[in-house]
Amino acid sequence: MPEIQTRAPSLTLDANTPAPPVKYVYDFSEGNKDLKELLGGKGANLAEMTRLGLPVPPGFTITTEACRAYLRTGAEPPELRDEVSAHLASLEATMGKRLGTGADPLLVSVRSGAKFSMPGMMDTVLNIGLSDESVDALARQSGNERFAWDSYRRLIQMFGKTVLGVDGDLFEDRIEELKRAVGAATDVELTAGHLRELVADFKRIVREQTGRDFPQEPREQMDLAIQAVFDSWNGDRARLYRRQERIPNDLGTAVNICAMVFGNLGPDSGTGVAFTRDPAGGHQGVYGDYLCNAQGEDVVAGIRNTVPLAELEALDKTSYDQLMSIMETLENHYRDLCDIEFTIERGKLWMLQTRVGKRTAAAAFRIATQLADQGLISEAEALQRVTGAQLAQLMFPRFDNGADATGAATHLATGLAASPGAAVGRAVFSSEAAVAWAGRGERVILVRRETNPDDLDGMLAAEGILTSRGGKTSHAAVVARGMGKTCVCGAEALEVDTKARRLSLTDRNGDAVVIGEGDLISIDGSSGKVYAGEVPVVPSEVVEYFEGGVDPLAPDTDDLVRAVHRIMTFADNVRRLRVRANADTAEDAARARRFGAEGIGLCRTEHMFLGERRELVEHLILAGTDEERAAALTALLPLQRADFTEIFEAMDGLPVTVRLLDPPLHEFLPDLTELSVRVALNDATPGTDPDTADTDHRLLAAVQRLHEQNPMLGLRGVRLGLVIPGLFSMQVRAIGEAAADRREAGGDPRAEIMIPLVGTVQELELVRDEAEQIIASIERERGVSLAITLGTMIELPRAALTAGQIAESADFFSFGTNDLTQTVWGFSRDDVEGSFFSAYLEKGVFGVSPFETIDVDGVGALVRAAVRAGRATRPDLKLGVCGEHGGDPYSVHFFHEAGLDYVSCSPFRIPVARLEAGRAAAD
Ligand code: PEP
Ligand code: MG
Repeated sequence: MPEIQTRAPSLTLDANTPAPPVKYVYDFSEGNKDLKELLGGKGANLAEMTRLGLPVPPGFTITTEACRAYLRTGAEPPELRDEVSAHLASLEATMGKRLGTGADPLLVSVRSGAKFSMPGMMDTVLNIGLSDESVDALARQSGNERFAWDSYRRLIQMFGKTVLGVDGDLFEDRIEELKRAVGAATDVELTAGHLRELVADFKRIVREQTGRDFPQEPREQMDLAIQAVFDSWNGDRARLYRRQERIPNDLGTAVNICAMVFGNLGPDSGTGVAFTRDPAGGHQGVYGDYLCNAQGEDVVAGIRNTVPLAELEALDKTSYDQLMSIMETLENHYRDLCDIEFTIERGKLWMLQTRVGKRTAAAAFRIATQLADQGLISEAEALQRVTGAQLAQLMFPRFDNGADATGAATHLATGLAASPGAAVGRAVFSSEAAVAWAGRGERVILVRRETNPDDLDGMLAAEGILTSRGGKTSHAAVVARGMGKTCVCGAEALEVDTKARRLSLTDRNGDAVVIGEGDLISIDGSSGKVYAGEVPVVPSEVVEYFEGGVDPLAPDTDDLVRAVHRIMTFADNVRRLRVRANADTAEDAARARRFGAEGIGLCRTEHMFLGERRELVEHLILAGTDEERAAALTALLPLQRADFTEIFEAMDGLPVTVRLLDPPLHEFLPDLTELSVRVALNDATPGTDPDTADTDHRLLAAVQRLHEQNPMLGLRGVRLGLVIPGLFSMQVRAIGEAAADRREAGGDPRAEIMIPLVGTVQELELVRDEAEQIIASIERERGVSLAITLGTMIELPRAALTAGQIAESADFFSFGTNDLTQTVWGFSRDDVEGSFFSAYLEKGVFGVSPFETIDVDGVGALVRAAVRAGRATRPDLKLGVCGEHGGDPYSVHFFHEAGLDYVSCSPFRIPVARLEAGRAAAD
């Protein structure tokens, strides 16, 4: 959860104080895990592992501050070069080798590493230091010519693509061409001679594409790679990912320079990825992938299929045991699930990376409670290890796993359960197709052999991702888990042909099955199963638990439900914010109550005037005489009273805020164009009934009189109540009488009447005076005390700015942040989504719609000001929010900080709001 601020705090120096010399480079032995802002996540954790005495290859980190200076000025800060030289010299001294020179040349990797992990988003270059000269030295020194030439071709390939901007396919196509020509099925079958040939071809490609030779000077390679990492911070992929994850744009990335160790030196070498617990389910065990005789990126890229980590025990017991012990050390040290990248070079284990690992929503809840049980973290920390967004994911439906539950769908294949959930959609085979189909409103499943960062757009657009290759740590799996998208990967039985836009397989009967673009498929990220057709889904057990249908303490209850229950209980105990529901019916109110609602924060009465009652409101608005108006009101009163009675009963003992009518007027009037056409047709058709024609004429005149260009800014809310006599009084009477009825029936109604769209205290006073009289008269008539409070919504800037005056007449404020956002920004909430919003999101004007997450700097500033002014007038003023933001995780933290008493949101979001309110309080 990002902090509630939009910019990173910056240090301000007194103009007279000389600035301390900036240190741009830190040796791994100088940093620690708390320096993520400066050293990036990767650099800080490499430093931490070095401090812990774990086997990390030596190296150093260039700070994010250097990157920011570079991005600001377009050039490296002048001091950086000398600092890098000094650290390189010390690295060379430690290793007893010189970069790219001599009989045993030092090679280094150059890797990006921002404060927040951005998997696959930034660029990495391995084997820096290799050249036409040093490749021979490496071959001699390693005694492995094939390895040396393979390393060199990888360098030119990665460097060509990421530093020099050459199209990566040109290299890949050349490899495929050569493999075909020499009859090699996999890269491993290429000989030293073939790889030497590839190096020559790759150098030619670089020359043709860039007009320059691949640089032979090792230091030049390193400097260019460092700049490329800096530049990649502003690459399209990185920008998109940051927007998605709400990572600020001005953090910059660090660069890690690390002595190379090699997993591709032969069968006693390899590379892998490991997790200290299962990142998909959260259970303890040995989880990870290992790839023998391979270098770093091969595992994550999912290019070759890996073996499960447990098989390493048989291949190299010593390294395996050491790895298990290091994993335990790391988990106890970080007190969390860690993910790890390691390499074994000729039987020696090296740790290349660790970080607190991404996990699915279910794993997050299970792991948080397991760690609390182990005594590694407190309950308050357990609460911070889960998020409202994760809880929301657990509330999504899933496939019914029971027999014959797949409906008409047929099971096609089973891959790896990489990221849970159930997804149904049309098969698409490219990122572009995913975006295009989704743009037409279709649900899609992105099907690829494997994904790479260029597929990000398609992954975002898709309901789920299916790949035929790659393990649980392949790019597709890692990114899908991060996004909370369903993913099945490594479904090897599927032949994916992206060019022909289809997948095919041979089924159990030996028949060929082909799925083309647009065909419906279903994937189950919890079991790895892939189906042709649409599989029916069932509701989540977490929702059943919230509904009260599962006993969380029963011995056979799923440990996930137990974990959710435990964390929710803790959140409820610590939170200060109350959580209410936006509910307009007794049914919604009852459901909200089961979900933990502590009242209703917004009962929108206009929703009660739909259907046949709409006509009564139409009569009311268009009434030409007092009698007509009175007749409409008399007809509406008992209907309204019955609505409120049911709701008060469902929420007995808890507050119910009923908002007086607030529709944009046009919602209750006939459509002007349709009516005009009808009248014109009447006039042109001889024999039309004169009464009908006359009524339509009068109706048209009234509709024309009331027609508004901007109905959302027109005759709405309190304005409507003030110009249509009797409307609000009827509603207040219905509320009062319903409350009196409930009292008499032994109930405990707690009605609160809320006046919408108030801009000045005078409006409120007028409604309040009348309402108080009506309530007093009901109390007298019925001989009961109703204790009904009267308050207002704050949804106009003027209301927020004059909140001190408005509070004189209000028992409570409820922030209507939907309208407040609309009026503060000056854009229509009904029109923007299909209009310029996508361009604004694209251009980064805002990372997320301000209608979804509170705009802290603008709308939020008004909320804070109104809270201050309102409470200054009336210290016991009750404060809530009932706009959509009331159920948005990030916004809930803001409302907690702003000092509100409650948030109100739709029933389904109540558990999320409870959890986030708890997290905000425990923070
Ligand atoms: C609001 O404006 O935030 C609000 C809750 O009212 P409505 O969405 O009904 O306008
Ligand atoms: Mg509103």
